[in-house]
Amino acid sequence: MVEQVECVVIGAGVVGLAVARALVQSGCEGIVLEAASSVGTGISSRNSEVIHGGIYYPTGSLKGRLCVAGRQALYHYCGERGLAHQRCGKFIVATEAGQENALRALMDNGLALGVSDLEWLDGDAARSLEPALSCVAAIHSPSTGIIDSHALRLSFQGDIDVRGGVIVLRSPVIGADVSRAADGGGIVLDVGGDAPIRLGCRVLVNCAGLDAPGLARRFLGLSPAWVPPLFLAKGNYFLLGGRAPFERLIYPMPETDALGVHLTLDLAGQARFGPDVEWVETIDYRVDPRRGVDFYAAVRRYWPGLTDGALRPGYAGIRPKIGPKGAPFADFMIQGEADHGSRGLVNLFGIDSPGLTASMAIAEHVAKMVR
Ligand SMILES: Cc1cc2nc3c(=O)[nH]c(=O)nc-3n(C[C@H](O)[C@H](O)[C@H](O)COP(=O)(O)OP(=O)(O)OC[C@H]3O[C@@H](n4cnc5c(N)ncnc54)[C@H](O)[C@@H]3O)c2cc1C
Repeated sequence: MVEQVECVVIGAGVVGLAVARALVQSGCEGIVLEAASSVGTGISSRNSEVIHGGIYYPTGSLKGRLCVAGRQALYHYCGERGLAHQRCGKFIVATEAGQENALRALMDNGLALGVSDLEWLDGDAARSLEPALSCVAAIHSPSTGIIDSHALRLSFQGDIDVRGGVIVLRSPVIGADVSRAADGGGIVLDVGGDAPIRLGCRVLVNCAGLDAPGLARRFLGLSPAWVPPLFLAKGNYFLLGGRAPFERLIYPMPETDALGVHLTLDLAGQARFGPDVEWVETIDYRVDPRRGVDFYAAVRRYWPGLTDGALRPGYAGIRPKIGPKGAPFADFMIQGEADHGSRGLVNLFGIDSPGLTASMAIAEHVAKMVR
């Protein structure tokens, strides 16, 4: 006899926890299965902890829509729960005249996405607010902020717990049989770990981050055509010794694969630069100190006052890209029954930035798909 549970979420990163929270709050009996021995050890603990305004994405994209909705939900939630965050604002800067048109286009894009509070500043106006900055123009995004993402995960965990949901650690999902799901016959999954078990469920949400495509490829009854390839885009950070002379986050013009080496601050005021983009074949979080050379060059374009020896290697995260280097924009890929035909199964692929900002909106989106 296979033990039954109504909803299973695979992965206790910020997205899996947000999804589980939304499911249990809508009355589902739910469990989260996490392979690691604690929550949030994946992508969710290796990012910039920025609450993004939602400026960069194509109109109509999931990233654009869920970032704006998620940002609003997140600020509301942080306020309600007293979670540490700061609406510090950010500048996106053109450091040479040739970038101004592209910066204006970026601002128009943000406005079209519903980020209505963006403000255009010429170089002098930007420097009156951030005197150490070198730029010819800037977009000011006052609704960009920073958050204690660890506190957020703990709070989601608490909400799941209060509604009777359970998070089971050291429980890697090995595979699933979704071949009967098309006829409403439910899903069966195999869980490894210390006490391997076979579980039956009505809803299965794959939020396994970097492992999501590999795992989905092991779902019996799901055509591999529905599973995108995975490309690893490592993002390295360098930390600044001492305080940065900036009150806001400073971003250069975005690059093809990422937002550019930017300055972010954490809630304790520690400044860090990054993430850069390093395409890798394997997961290795060590930061090569030799990459520092490029960091100095990139940062000095907007902060010429950065002194030699001020940066030290920090940490790294890995983006779960579903397109290779140089590929055009790839949206969040959230597939449900309407896509692959398996009732109750939702796969989340390519949940890179702004996944933290969008987490609560992603969760609502998934909850609607399985309701
Ligand atoms: C360098 C970098 C910077 C970023 N900066 C920002 C930012 O500033 N703002 C923003 O909004 N977003 C940012 N992001 C994006 C954001 O961090 C991610 O979108 C988000 O953390 C993804 O969360 P997740 O829950 O999908 O994945 P994860 O946090 O990786 O969670 C997946 C979980 O699944 C578990 N798992 C894997 N396989 C299995 C299995 N078989 N069985 C059970 N469990 C399994 C893993 O152990 C892990 O805990 C950044 C990302 C990167 C890489």
